[in-house]
Amino acid sequence: MGEWKKSGCVLCAQNCGLELFIENNRIEKVKGDKDNPRSRGYVCRKGMNVSYHQHHDQRLTHPLKKKGDAFVKISWDEAIGEIADKLKAITGAHGPRSFAYMGGGGQGCHFEAAFGTSLMKGLGSRYHYNAVGQEFSGLFWVFGRVTGKQYNFLMPDESRSDMLVATGWNGMVSHQIPRAPLVLREFSKDPARILLVIDPRKSETAEIADIHLALRPGTDALLTKAMIAIILRNGWEKREYIEKYVSGFDQVRAHFTDFDAKSAVAFCELDYDKVVEVCGLFTTRNWSMHPDLGIYMNRHSTLASYLHNVLMAVCGRLAVPGGNIIPGTLMPLGGHSDERDEKTWRTVETNFPPVLGYYPPNAMPEEILSDKPDRLRAVCVSGANPLRSFADTTAYERAFARLDLLVTSELAMTETAALSHYVLPARSGYESWDGTFFPLTFPEIYFQMRRPLVEPDGEQLEVGEIYTRIADAMGLIPAIPDSLHEAAKGPRAAFGAELMKFAMSEPRALKGMPFILAKTLGKTLGSGNLAALWGMLMTAPKLLRENAVRAGFKDSPLMGEEIFQAVLDHPEGLWIGKCDPDDNMSLVTTEDKKLNVYAPEMQDWLRDLDTASEKRAMEPGAEFPLILNAGRHMSMNANTLMRNPEWNSGKRACTLAMHPDDAAERGLADGEKVRVRTQAGQVDVELEVTEAARRGQVIIPHGFGLDYNGNVYGVNVNRLTKNTHRDHFLGTPLHRYVPCRVEKL
Ligand code: SF4
Repeated sequence: MGEWKKSGCVLCAQNCGLELFIENNRIEKVKGDKDNPRSRGYVCRKGMNVSYHQHHDQRLTHPLKKKGDAFVKISWDEAIGEIADKLKAITGAHGPRSFAYMGGGGQGCHFEAAFGTSLMKGLGSRYHYNAVGQEFSGLFWVFGRVTGKQYNFLMPDESRSDMLVATGWNGMVSHQIPRAPLVLREFSKDPARILLVIDPRKSETAEIADIHLALRPGTDALLTKAMIAIILRNGWEKREYIEKYVSGFDQVRAHFTDFDAKSAVAFCELDYDKVVEVCGLFTTRNWSMHPDLGIYMNRHSTLASYLHNVLMAVCGRLAVPGGNIIPGTLMPLGGHSDERDEKTWRTVETNFPPVLGYYPPNAMPEEILSDKPDRLRAVCVSGANPLRSFADTTAYERAFARLDLLVTSELAMTETAALSHYVLPARSGYESWDGTFFPLTFPEIYFQMRRPLVEPDGEQLEVGEIYTRIADAMGLIPAIPDSLHEAAKGPRAAFGAELMKFAMSEPRALKGMPFILAKTLGKTLGSGNLAALWGMLMTAPKLLRENAVRAGFKDSPLMGEEIFQAVLDHPEGLWIGKCDPDDNMSLVTTEDKKLNVYAPEMQDWLRDLDTASEKRAMEPGAEFPLILNAGRHMSMNANTLMRNPEWNSGKRACTLAMHPDDAAERGLADGEKVRVRTQAGQVDVELEVTEAARRGQVIIPHGFGLDYNGNVYGVNVNRLTKNTHRDHFLGTPLHRYVPCRVEKL
């Protein structure tokens, strides 16, 4: 007899609430959970198919070791012992920089990061690579300069905006805010509100826009510079706001005063009067902006994010109701990394700094293939599939083949796992206690801890438990007194007091706290992840405690325990805090507490950005006359999380989208196979002739090229992306602007 259970979706950063019908240890049916306070019953096609992520033929059930070209089963003790010995030998001989952790739990399972980073730090390394560094480095770096801390994510307060600016964001498909298609349709239908889309192509979101600025691909930074120039020239800037809340404006103003906005707008292939009209709206409307990968992974990546923030500051839209605000969090998505501090590690070969604590995966192949003595030699991967997710699959294959040790902890025999020396079976997001820190909302702070609903059918462990065992075998966890083990079996308040005593007497305890919690309270609760959550709540910072009081929790020493119990009592998720919606500016932590728009590192770049320089840089070459957008969000892709291709059976999923005029010019017809070439490589793919692609631009979705039981489904677009084609400042790959050619076969 089956039963409906509360859970959440692990397939994208929205983590919508789901109800799952579990029968015979399988997810048999799915529906949106109306009790989830954030998603309120919304679910998309991907979430409805989440059982294809959970159940498939490639699930790993036992630890595996590569012998020759094949894998053989080994025991957990053998695997952990051998990995620990190898890690000790490698880092002993080559130093801590030879080790990197690549992971963080992807879209649904962030608790592993507490353990992965503790192992990394225990080994003396700071090299944490993950997808945040693949997509958002420029954005978070800019937040660091503007607000004082990189983790102050300035996101749109769209519920209180009367105009939403979607730039490089196709929210109708990619979501990125709760119930995105519903919210966007509401904007579109309401005559009092405006949906403004800035996107080269007629995306699903552009289709319903009130205003669509279909700019030339790759010109977002130039257009934003032109818009700021137009606003300043007309004296439309919000002087009172700038005076009161913004610093550094006088140092950047000169870049815009003599700027030829007219020629820039023409180069962006837009109508000047229309752009002036939009600039007028920017200075009269209560608007917020949602940029996305179309900006971050495009030309001038970091500069474009910087210019967006200057634009919003000039228009008085940062940290105000209905503008872009800093939300509260249970745990920020990362720490603040200041690359100006000499102690901050940079990558050895490519010299990139971390942002939010994360290094760009784009640099990893060069860091492994380097000739420098302290190059990377050992990598632990979890919750990531770099072979298909990150730029330049071919470079990754070459690099991983050179590693002394590659350990992958995964649900499935992924393309990355197949190249590893050891493959360790991980529990899925439905077999373990887990959650994420992605779903930001304002002013409420949301959290859901999913609970295990399906029994693992083998020896799978939580990834955190795997890292705990490796750390233990390496002697990185201090000896835990019996009294603490005993206390873990009793009331948690007494355990907390005993833990505090231990932490004060053992200096290494604090560094390895997730491991200690996993080995003590984790045994009682049946999950290291759950124990880590308890530890996190018991040490909640002042701001989170203040926010929790606003959400109804009592201000007392037991608040952490009260929230923990509430999380356990609400499997559907709950509001655990509430920001002060009218005092967002108080969260700015720059020295003068003002929004700082002067970033010295951006000034030369900003000065040099004009029509003439863009014309030179964007001149189409004879070899690669088209621009490939290497990543298209669809209802048929979910990063690389779906292993069973059946969920797309009968659908036209992975194609090369091309505008009808471009196809006619090349004598190509819808449905035929074509060859796409770039600097990185070539693939053969089915052509889809569609007006959803802009003239001069072609699009291939990400997340395909799945190798499932010997058959490959769709093409891996990262065979076409070169890891060195990236933002020169922080290393973000320019996936949305890949010069290419398309040939008839
Ligand atoms: S929007 Fe994201 S989290 Fe929600 S159901 Fe779809 S894939 Fe899952």
